[in-house]
Amino acid sequence: MTEARRRRIEEVLRRRQPDLTVLLENVHKPHNLSAILRSCDAVGVLEAHAVNPTGGVPTFNETSGGSHKWVYLRVHPDIQTAIGHLREKGFRIYATALREDAQDFREVDYTQPTAILLGAEKWGVSEEALALADSAIQVPMFGMVQSLNVSVAAAVILFEAQRQRLKAGLYEGPRLDPELYQRVLEDWLRK
Ligand code: SAM
Repeated sequence: MTEARRRRIEEVLRRRQPDLTVLLENVHKPHNLSAILRSCDAVGVLEAHAVNPTGGVPTFNETSGGSHKWVYLRVHPDIQTAIGHLREKGFRIYATALREDAQDFREVDYTQPTAILLGAEKWGVSEEALALADSAIQVPMFGMVQSLNVSVAAAVILFEAQRQRLKAGLYEGPRLDPELYQRVLEDWLRK
């Protein structure tokens, strides 16, 4: 491990946002999952969450660019457990959904603890998850095609969160408490 590599790792860790995350409901295609984790890495998500249709460990491919090494992924057995876990930690859960009563995604305050719930390619976020979420948001669509690819929707929303957090100074100093910072640092230095 060179000094430059260690400095780079610390620089990235200092910008990690423990209170910004995604919850992926049955987003199982490796290229979508990989692309989402890559955007998570870029905006500083420390840990992403997933519920998998098969119950197995999700798989990644080269689309991740190696980002899955740097963004933890916690897999939950079902959506109630996942949302319960996030709510207990103080997250507000925004379900992405293409419906009339969904707010424009730019109206949300992402400087607060935020989890963005994204759904499966074919069916979207389930009715059960929508009922458990705090509110619904959408990226307005003016084209012929009804929806975005899930990884694109994730990126658009995450980068709005990044814009707001930059403005609020949330990337200026370490956001992890010292004990967690040290634990993650030791883990990353071993990679
Ligand atoms: N037929 C599905 C539906 O009605 O929800 C489309 C699913 S879409 C291909 C897959 C996921 O991408 C959605 O569950 C949502 O998480 C996200 N998504 C796609 N377009 C979106 C948009 N315009 N606004 C917010 N999320 C979107």
